[in-house]
Formats: sequence, structure tokens, C-alpha cells
Amino acid sequence: MTTTYTPMIQQYLGVKADYPDAFLFFRLGDFYEMFFEDAVLASRELEITLTKRAGGGEDKIPMCGVPYHSASQYIRKLIEKGYKVAICEQVEDPKEAKGVVRREVVQVITPGTLMEDSMLKDRENNFILFLAKHEDRFALVACDLSTGEVSATQASELQTLAEEAQPYNAAEIVLGEGFSTADQQQVKSYCPQSSVGFTAERGQRHAIPISKTDEVTSQKEAEGQVENLLSAIPKQQQTGAIIQCVQLLQSYLEDTQKRSVGHLQPVQLYQTHSFLHLDPSSRRNLELTETIRAQSKKGSLLWLLDETSTAMGGRLIKKWIQRPLMDQKLIDERLDAVQLFLDHALEREELMQLLDEVYDLERLAGRVSYGNVNPRDVVQLRRSLKAVPEITALLNQLPGSYIQEKLSKLDPCTELLELLEGSVLDEPPISVKDGGIFKQGYHEELDRLLEASRNGKQWIADLEATEREKTGIKSLKVGFNKVFGYYIEITRANLHALHDERYERKQTLANAERYITPELKEKEALILEANDRLMVLEYELFVELRLKINQYLLRLQALAEGIAQLDVLGSFARVSEKFQYTRPHFNSDRLLSIEDGRHPVVEKVLGESTFVANDVRMDTEARQILLLTGPNMAGKSTYMRQTALIVVMAQIGCFVSAKRAKLPVFDQIFTRIGAADDLVGGQSTFMVEMMETKRAITKATADSLILLDEIGRGTSTYDGMSLAQAVVEYIQEHVQAKTLFSTHYHELTGLEQQLAGLTNIHVACSEREGRVIFLHKVREGKADRSYGIHVAQLAEMPSTVIRRAQEILSVLEGQNQVASSLDERTDQGWESGSSSENEVRNPEKAMQSSQEKQKQSSQEKPLQTTQEK
Ligand code: ADP
Repeated sequence: MTTTYTPMIQQYLGVKADYPDAFLFFRLGDFYEMFFEDAVLASRELEITLTKRAGGGEDKIPMCGVPYHSASQYIRKLIEKGYKVAICEQVEDPKEAKGVVRREVVQVITPGTLMEDSMLKDRENNFILFLAKHEDRFALVACDLSTGEVSATQASELQTLAEEAQPYNAAEIVLGEGFSTADQQQVKSYCPQSSVGFTAERGQRHAIPISKTDEVTSQKEAEGQVENLLSAIPKQQQTGAIIQCVQLLQSYLEDTQKRSVGHLQPVQLYQTHSFLHLDPSSRRNLELTETIRAQSKKGSLLWLLDETSTAMGGRLIKKWIQRPLMDQKLIDERLDAVQLFLDHALEREELMQLLDEVYDLERLAGRVSYGNVNPRDVVQLRRSLKAVPEITALLNQLPGSYIQEKLSKLDPCTELLELLEGSVLDEPPISVKDGGIFKQGYHEELDRLLEASRNGKQWIADLEATEREKTGIKSLKVGFNKVFGYYIEITRANLHALHDERYERKQTLANAERYITPELKEKEALILEANDRLMVLEYELFVELRLKINQYLLRLQALAEGIAQLDVLGSFARVSEKFQYTRPHFNSDRLLSIEDGRHPVVEKVLGESTFVANDVRMDTEARQILLLTGPNMAGKSTYMRQTALIVVMAQIGCFVSAKRAKLPVFDQIFTRIGAADDLVGGQSTFMVEMMETKRAITKATADSLILLDEIGRGTSTYDGMSLAQAVVEYIQEHVQAKTLFSTHYHELTGLEQQLAGLTNIHVACSEREGRVIFLHKVREGKADRSYGIHVAQLAEMPSTVIRRAQEILSVLEGQNQVASSLDERTDQGWESGSSSENEVRNPEKAMQSSQEKQKQSSQEKPLQTTQEK
């Protein structure tokens, strides 16, 4: 037996069928209701009460709802959890409806298409990515709907694009046709924070056209929009994949937003290899935009460099850090500007102060196009535009061609400013429907209505005095309430004194009576009518103003871009001044020479006086590979990281944390550092290490920088050592990338004799009265020993363990076989281990065999280990 639902539930089911992947917020009076599975899930996710309602079927239908006026907080909660929400409104007046009120979905809110300020983070983009596949090409389009920017790139492998997708930190990724679930998983593994879904299931759904001609026009419109979006890409570069991907974006946005997204800028096509390439794990390891452990901005390079004033600058600096340049000319242009702002610090600070006045023009442009701006936004826009001529005047005082060029981009939008100056009041309400928005003189009829309303109000203000006099009642009051309108109130105690025929009773209270008089009634009608007309007129005028602002979209977006760049360059200069960074110089001889380099973030945290600066020298001859030894905690990985960070800082156009720096322009940086392991991916530490190492040595070129930290430590000694040596040899023979290689295997320092391109360096330590003193100073040559046990002491390991470790160490060192066997390399690789090697591989065994002895030994005072202050 089929269930016959009530017409309303039937309507619900009809709409829901079109939106299987979203919560359907179904408007019923003052509530958005959800039914069936949606209700069950929503009640759990939102922690709201699940009820039931009769709907015509045998069983009652699960239902839950949220009040219309507080819906946005619930929507935000669902979006944050990665869900989509389809908003279904009543689209006809219930009074005029025959049968069930007509309802339609007016917007689908998804994580990647948020527009509301309250749901977005100021200084972060909110990206939605689209991936399309056409023949043997893949394309990626990245769009931030809130700012209107769109960029695209393409590749022949999905993995390249999945990697490319990662730094966008997208809220949502939409896969076009032809992708499999495995593809989805691959993308997801690079972008675990994004909600990754297909578009195919949404394919059938489209607004039901009213007539055939409508269908044709909307089709035409869509084609026009795609063409517009593609307008910045030369025809010969518009591949099938790119076109398909842009179409995907267009149809997805049309489908979810159900309105024009006219503020989207033409798509900027870029090549993945035109920026310094950093693979996902290197980005993480170098903590460019967030720290590994806390995943917070604090402690990252972004945190250090970001002293921008505007939200636009805040978003741009992040983008620059994620995409260091490779074009030396572009880098030098930025560096010139930083230099200029350093040389003119006073003007720079003045500029940054002016920028403080500038509002988020990019997002404002988006909201203008959406019709979401309110009167306060307009005031902010006016303030921002007012600052532009001052900024221009300030910049005009500075020399420098880069700045001059930026200047030409700073369009003051003079006519728009003039329009805004004369329109909205300085402190208007947020609402566009309650009037009180415009200045006098903006509009003739508005002025007349305002005058009438003012006169009426004055008349009422005067009424109290006149009526007190006429009636002789001193406590008489004139008031207003929404239900009864204007009234004259007389307390019960004074009623006996009222002898006036004009007074007509209107409302009775406990201690007073309220009256109206014919004159008051007449005035009231006039005032209320004027007010009603005022509100309607002001609303109409505001909509008109919004449309006028809309015509400036492109100019406002260009202005925003110019402002953001100035802001970032100013911020670079500020930070460079504060920490005494210097301008890097580039060479094409593949020479790297950093004098007194510092790790910028560690230096900031530890303090300038505590951090020990170090040199790095690399070239194409003996110093292609630097083999770095030294005890744990000496500062090896800090040294390696700081080298990479200096390279990144230089290539984003910032000054660097060194006394002097000569650098080549690098094409890629690979890192295998520390313990940022892919635990989520379910791979063992050692496997991850090997995969990252493989990647580095197979993808790197002679222009790349490779940082390898203790490769091979995840396996037994011989295994590890052999791998480490083979990797170093491979790099020297086949890759010739600049490589910093830290190791625990002191035996490897012998390679200096065998490999022409390898030089030993070490982090110096000294020992005084049984204490290890970390000098953090990098010197030529190899370290004398490894001090690992001393560090275990630092970590307050039980003294029994420490003592036992020292014992085992002296046994192993006595065997002295480890180093010598390394030289016996055969063509197949390494000879299989002897029995003594097995002992080395299996220190647990050695441990067991002498446990008896251990038990008998007495407690001794452990060696002290310390760090030099
Ligand atoms: P390793 O990689 O050799 O085990 P790290 O690079 O992790 O050592 O450094 C250990 C600690 O030593 C760091 O947390 C930092 O506080 C300190 N350190 C490292 N390098 C320096 C330096 N150049 N100057 C001052 N302190 C440093």
C-alpha cells in the first residue's frame, strides 16, 4: 500500500528529491522545518529536539525545526561540519495561495560558497575548487566566491593537481564527470580538511523553465558567463579541460546560488611550474603558514611576516608565502619596493596607518553584487575611498618605478566617492528597511517627506505643553506605542480635572487612561503615512545606490589588489626593519652563500641575543652536498630549516634573516625533516620517510634544494646507513641538487674522501665537567662523537637506562666493526651481515644477556647535561 501524504509533505518530498545531498530547510511560517532522515540527523548534529508530526501516512513523521530569525547560527554549524543546506522559502503570499503555498529553493549554502561575513574569516580566503578531466588533461579552477577571484591551472596527472590543491586549504572541492571514488580519495588525502564531492548527481537538477524560450535564454546566459570567465585566457591556451572546468564552476554556482555572480573576475591561468615548487610535506615541515604540532598560525613564517593592516593584505601575504616566485625580475621588483619602504620608514608607517582605514573592498564587491550590502558597508566604502587620494599623495613623494606602477592601479573612483559623500548618513542603521539611511539633499521627495515627518514630530513634541495648559493637568503625558499609536495619558488621580470634549478614550490602564483627540488623530495619520513612504522610498533609493556601486565592481577589485600589494610590501619592510633582515642577492652560478644566517622564527621566539647565527656555503663543486653531523638537540634541523626559510623569504620578495645572502633562484625545495608523519594516512614512519626521500631524489634538479634529516634512522643500523649512503651517492651522480644531509651515522663522514661534491660540517659541542654544552655553532669537518646518551639524560631518562646505554655503547664501540665493513661494498650492494653485525642490529639481545649484572649495580649519580646560556 502506498502512503498518501498530505499535500504539504508531498511538496516537501518533491523538493527534497532534487537536493538529496543537502539538508532541506523548509520554511513553515516562522520556522525552517526538517523532516524524515534530515530531521533525525539534524537533531543529532544541532542538538535540537526531535518531534513527530502527522503527515497523512500511518506513522508520524520525524520533524525538527529552527526559528527563522536565528537560522544562520544553525546553518553555520552544519556548514562547519561539511554539510550543505538548501534554503526553501515560501515564494507566494500565503493569503493569496490556493492550496499549499508555493515554495522554492532560493539558495544552496555549501562550505565553499559562503558569502556572509559572519561565516567567513577576515584574513583567510574561502576557496572552492573544481577539478575536470578531458582526454588526457586535468584542470583545476580555484574560486573564492566572497572575493571574486578565480585562477586555474592544468596538468597531465591528477596527483600534480591534488598537490597543487593542497595549499588552497579549500572548504570544498567539486569533481566533474569521469572521476572515480579512488580519484576522490586521492584528492581527499592531499586535502583532508576539504569536503570533496562529485557534481554528477546534481547534473539533472535545474530550475524548471517556465517556457522553452526561457530555457534558451538561460542557456545563452550561461554560455556568456563562461565566455566572460575565459576572457583573460588566450584562445590557444583554452584547452578542453580548462573550458570544461570553468563550465563546471559556472553550472555549480548557478545551481547553488541561483543568482548572478557578476563579481567573479576573469580566470587567471597559471603554470604550476612558474612558482617555486614545495610538495605538501615540505610545506608542512617548514611551517610556512601553520605549525606542525598545533596547526596554528602562531609560530609559522606567516605569523612572523604578517604585519599587514588590511584583511586583503592578510590574505595576499598568505598567498605569496605559499607561492614563492621564480622569476628574478619579479622578485627584484618586490625587493626594490621593500627597500624603498625601509629607506622611507616614516612614510611607510603613515601609509600603514592610512591602510588601517581601508575596509575589505574585495569582499564588499562580492556583497554588492549579491545585493547583500547594508548602509554601514556603504559608509565603510566611503571611508576607504577617502583614504585613497592620501595614499596616492604619500606614495608620490617616494621614488621607485614599481611603486609608480602600483600607483597607476590605485584608482580613486572619484565619481563613486562623490556619490557616496552626498548619500548615506555617517551612522546609518544596519537595516535597509527601517529608513534613516540618507542625508538631506540626496533626493527631493525624500527631503519633503523628511520635512513633513519632522514637522509632525515637532508638533507632537509641542502638544504636551499645550495640552497641559489647556487642561491644567501638570502630569499629562504624550506617548506612542506600536499597537495604539499616539495617545495622551492622564493618571487616574487627575481624571476628575479633565473636562474636555475633544478627548476620546482609547485605552485603559491600571492607574491611567489614554486618550486621543481629533487633531492628534489627523497628525498621527500624516506622520505615519510619511514614515511609511519614507521607509519604502529609502529602501528603493538604497537598492538604486547599490546598483550604482555595482557598476564600479571591476574598478573596486583592481583597487583592492593594489592596496593589498602595498600592504604586504609594507609589512615585509616593517618586519625586515624590526629584525634587521638584509636584501638577498641572486646569482646564476648556483652559488649559495649565507653569512650569519638565523632561523627567523626561532630567533623571534628565543630572542636575538640568544640565537647563534651560522654561515652556509654551497656551490657546484665540493660543496654540493653538506653532510651535517652533531649530537641530538645541537641544532641540526634548525640549521637546515633556516636555510630553506631564507630561500623562501628571498623568493617571495622579502629581506632575509642573515647578515648577507647570495642565492641562486631555486626551482623546488624538498624536505624530509623531523617527525611530521602521516599517521592519518596509516603509513609507517619509515615508509613515509622512504616515500618522501624517493620523491626528492627523483623530482629534484640541479636547481633544487634538498634537506634530508637523518635518513634511514627508522630501520636497523646497517640498513639505514646503507640507504643513507646510497641516497647521497645518487644525488651526487644523478641529481646535483644542493643538499643538506644530517646524519647520526658518523661512519658516513668517510664519504668526504670518496665523493667530490660532499663536504662534512658539524654542529659544535663541548664538554665541561661531565656536562655537554650546546654551542649551536656550525663548523667545518665532522663531529667527534654523538652524545645521544647525554641528551637522554636531558630528558630525565631513568638513570638505570642511561648507565646501561653507556655500557652497551662501549661494547659496541669496542667492536669497531661497523665502520670498516662499510667500505666493503659489492656490486650487488652490501654484503650480508656477520654475527657481530647481528648483535649490532639487535641491541635488545645484548641488553638481555647482561641483565643480571644490571640488577646488581648500585645507584650512581648520573652525568649532568646542560645547554649553554
Ligand atoms: P637537532 O636537529 O640537532 O636535534 P634542533 O635543531 O631540533 O636540534 O635544535 C634543538 C634546540 O636547540 C632548538 O629547539 C632550539 O631551541 C635550539 N637551537 C637550535 N639551533 C640554535 C641556534 N643556532 N641558536 C640557539 N639555539 C638553537
